[in-house]
Amino acid sequence: MEEEKGDGSRVLLLHNAVIVTMDNDLRVFQNGSVVVAGDRIEAIGRSSDILREFSDRANETLDLEGRFLLPGFINTHVHTSQQLARGIADDVDLMTWLHARIWPYESNMTEEDSYLSTLLCGIELIRSGVTCFAEAGGQHVSGMARAVELLGLRACLVQSTMDSGQGLPTNWSTVSIDHCIESQIELYKRHHNTANGRIRVWFGLRQIMNATDELIAATREIAQELKTGIHMHVAEIPFENELVMDTRKVDHGTVSYLDKLGLLRSNLLAAHSVWVNDDEIRSLANADVKVSHCPAAAMRMLGFAPIKEMLDLGVCVSLGTDGAPSNNRMSIVDEMYVASLINKGREAYIKGSTSPTALPAEVMLKMVTANGAKAVLWDDDIGSIEAGKKADMVIINPFSWSMLPLHDSISSLVYCMRTENIESVMCNGQWIMKDKKILNINEEEVISLAVKASSNILKRAGISLPQRFNLIC
Ligand SMILES: [Zn+2]
Repeated sequence: MEEEKGDGSRVLLLHNAVIVTMDNDLRVFQNGSVVVAGDRIEAIGRSSDILREFSDRANETLDLEGRFLLPGFINTHVHTSQQLARGIADDVDLMTWLHARIWPYESNMTEEDSYLSTLLCGIELIRSGVTCFAEAGGQHVSGMARAVELLGLRACLVQSTMDSGQGLPTNWSTVSIDHCIESQIELYKRHHNTANGRIRVWFGLRQIMNATDELIAATREIAQELKTGIHMHVAEIPFENELVMDTRKVDHGTVSYLDKLGLLRSNLLAAHSVWVNDDEIRSLANADVKVSHCPAAAMRMLGFAPIKEMLDLGVCVSLGTDGAPSNNRMSIVDEMYVASLINKGREAYIKGSTSPTALPAEVMLKMVTANGAKAVLWDDDIGSIEAGKKADMVIINPFSWSMLPLHDSISSLVYCMRTENIESVMCNGQWIMKDKKILNINEEEVISLAVKASSNILKRAGISLPQRFNLIC
């Protein structure tokens, strides 16, 4: 439960890097250097200055030979427990997706399954340069926490919480509000601020159709009292808004209703937020609600979110991959590329003329760093490379076919970079991937155990997929 003590005796000096700091002045050092002491960044500057000042004190000096150094990326909407469900719900309608595949899958998971699923998901997160993520909600937070601690990642964990709604599995449909709140308080007490301070526990609301007013109010109050965040899927499909208008008497959907209930606050992380009107975007901005844009998942099942309008009105928008059954790729690198293209395309579609300047590379990089840090309520410690902040950083090697030639460094990081360009990842001052090797787990063993666990869950849940094409066995 204790914060890691900065081990001042261990000093690492990284130099000769193109450092994209993502600080408030958006400084980029063409030949920069960073000093890491214990779990924090002690200094940043030109390599010549830092080498002169810190070489004597450094235990280790690493020449990055012109590679990029960026703050660790932050993925603000991930279902780690769904990693074992990759491929079980491709090309199906939303109700089949939820009622016939995902809910049976999730309700048949054990804590051990969740642990393995989070390990498998963590491999993909780390390989795409992620050092911190916001869990969107699963059933076994203790399993997730064990995996996050081992992987060395930073995370805000959430229990999937529902107290109402149609079509729920029987073991989920009888849960009282008191139980929802008490079980989360228990998880908060057990896991909040553990793993050397890398794990925080938030409160979850799966979505409006699975939450009574009383549960929403109780969640709002307890999160305020414990000074932690709330993660909720918001305004995902038109049906959701229609149902809210019909049953809860507001003139537009979920965001209007949450405003009425007083849930729109700076500690709310609203995933997706696709079907929102201009007034609701203004409400999100005024209340400093954070939005997690998950473009790939939205394209598959939800629609075009008005991200440009949100950014123009000052909403803090970050980026998420969502879960493996709704995106299949948990790479925030791919997600940046997709987000930029989709939002440019949306401009052309709604205005009838192209707008290649919408969501430029600088904005995309801000979404996965500084905005991501604000979204997870951790921006005093992460989101930029600055003296005093935690040493969460990613080393990118651009010297391969995917990124060369390198005429415009910043745009290349969004439009050219692949997951394969991510070379090393540091979280909390510790390498968690070095030269493309994940350090804290045996990757092959995790993959093998995860594949077995996945087959067993599908058997228990009675999920079988229809045949595609003319399969000859
Ligand atoms: Zn989600």
